[in-house]
Amino acid sequence: MANAEIIDSKIIITLPVEKVTAGLKMELEEYLNNLPITVIPVKKLSQAQNGLIHVLLKEFGEQLGYTLLEIKELMKEQFAIATDRLDFSTAKCDMQTANEFIAFIIEQALEMGVNLYILGKHDTRYKHILEIDNITQRYVIACLRKRTCCICGKVHDEYNTVDLEHWKTVASSTGTYENDDGLQNPFLTLCREHHNEKHNIGIESFKNRYYIEGVWLNPQLVYELLDIYPKHFALFRKRLKEGYYDGLTRREKK
Ligand SMILES: [Zn+2]
Ligand SMILES: [Zn+2]
Repeated sequence: MANAEIIDSKIIITLPVEKVTAGLKMELEEYLNNLPITVIPVKKLSQAQNGLIHVLLKEFGEQLGYTLLEIKELMKEQFAIATDRLDFSTAKCDMQTANEFIAFIIEQALEMGVNLYILGKHDTRYKHILEIDNITQRYVIACLRKRTCCICGKVHDEYNTVDLEHWKTVASSTGTYENDDGLQNPFLTLCREHHNEKHNIGIESFKNRYYIEGVWLNPQLVYELLDIYPKHFALFRKRLKEGYYDGLTRREKK
């Protein structure tokens, strides 16, 4: 892939080639000078996104004992490798990439057991995070995988129960738990306290209070969650045995 920059009123194109031969530079310049130029403007990341990236990185770093600069370098490098964007820079990336980087930081934090409730629920930046495209979904899916409450970050262990929660009532979607293939109702994870709260105030108020709602799963995700939620997805388990769901990436047998 070529890289273009403007230096001293000239467009400088750096092009990796197999072999730099005599005359190649001139040949390429002659060729490229005759091509029309297409410019694709993309929206640069916003001030708010940039601020958010730094708030998240700072809090994340503090919990791991890294300075902001150290954690920033580390996350940028990991993101660049994971997404094959080797020239990734927060200073000049576009909005879409910035959102992906924010989601990436959040997922890494969860993966490392760092509680994401970095911002208080009444902090307006918190709302802002969850309103960014796909972040809520990716966050809830990461919580489903980790079995942590997506509201308070509690982990499922001997002290706390964190359960898979059907966003809408089972009665209104599959009817019964035996008929549940995981594909008819959005899901999220809740501790007992937040589970009670959801039922007390109802899903509309719950959504308005926390900016979080259930996410729709696909067969691959249901499959990956089977071991984590042994009492759920009865119909999916049955169908899986019967040979449904062809395209799944199977895990190794333990
Ligand atoms: Zn909770
Ligand atoms: Zn419930």
